[in-house]
Amino acid sequence: MPAPIRPQPGILEIAPYKGGDSAITGVDTPLKLSSNENPFGPPPSAVAAMQAAAANIHRYPSTDHAPLRQAIAEMHGLDADRIIIGVGSDEVLTLLAMAFAGPGDEVLYPEYGFSMYPIFALSAGATPVVAPEAGRVVDVDALLARITPATRLIYLANPANPTTTLLENAELTRLADGLPAQCLLVLDGAYAEFAEGYDGGAAMVGARDNVVMTRTFSKLYGLGGLRVGWGYASPHVIDVLTRIRGPFNMSAIALAGAEAAVRDRAFARTCQQVNAEQRARLSGGLRQLGIQSDDSHTNFVLARFASETEALAADAYLKSQGILVRPVKGYGFPDALRITVGRPEDVTRVLDALAEFRGIS
Ligand SMILES: *Cc1c(COP(=O)(O)O)cnc(C)c1O
Repeated sequence: MPAPIRPQPGILEIAPYKGGDSAITGVDTPLKLSSNENPFGPPPSAVAAMQAAAANIHRYPSTDHAPLRQAIAEMHGLDADRIIIGVGSDEVLTLLAMAFAGPGDEVLYPEYGFSMYPIFALSAGATPVVAPEAGRVVDVDALLARITPATRLIYLANPANPTTTLLENAELTRLADGLPAQCLLVLDGAYAEFAEGYDGGAAMVGARDNVVMTRTFSKLYGLGGLRVGWGYASPHVIDVLTRIRGPFNMSAIALAGAEAAVRDRAFARTCQQVNAEQRARLSGGLRQLGIQSDDSHTNFVLARFASETEALAADAYLKSQGILVRPVKGYGFPDALRITVGRPEDVTRVLDALAEFRGIS
């Protein structure tokens, strides 16, 4: 590339995002438990709505996303005017960095935060700052200690990926109370629906102007490939984000599929219930094999092995059995594997394979 054609500062510091594996050589249909996807697939109601929407796909989509915002507001008991729809929650998280952080500013997140957070910060030209965690749980005091006059955003996934742990409302409130006026707290609720009794931070957003919540259709709703997420924030923040998002960021197919999915209460409830049951089965079965994990508030478990060597050997053995899970060395856990909770028969396969692995290793 000719020398004067240079990207903005920070861009070349970004290590490209690496997703979960989706193929094993020689295996036709691997059991994919590497990306926290819904093991039951998309809701049939959403598939039907998308097929119907295809007939009108010569038309430009809505730019204000009003029907989807209305559906989300109704189902979650929220104010539709405070909702923004994005191409996955990724887009909402990116827009937040673009709008509120830039060169000279700092973006803070916990040690085991989502691997996209530094990418959002660096893309905006801002400086990523990491706060240590305490035993795989977000440490509010460590975050507060790293706030400077330059801090503009804090990204916090709750429950967290890949640790599976949940920060209680009292701790979230303590964090929000401790923030200086120029700083926004972004609660990434990608897994909020899997944490019983947790509202993703919706009530906090309603009560204060410095908190933003993001949610996604990619996990519980089984629509990762559709790319739909949303944010809930004060009218001021929504106004700012709406100015910089593309007017046609959401396809008509995506809007129709997500609206049907969010109205399909039965689908969500069934998936939540099966997830809770199978999550307990998976972590209990792992424990019997001597593999520890924290109590998960998500749709995956973080299985901790005795060493990196053992984790890698377990990953290789699972692959040989056609099962894909996620090594998480890149997140700071070289001795662990992140395993998405599957259907009952999937959990059985994982536990059987790991029992065999234990027997032969
Ligand atoms: C999966 C995930 C998301 C969701 O991303 P989408 O763009 O909505 O698919 C966001 N945050 C975390 C921590 C995740 O694991």
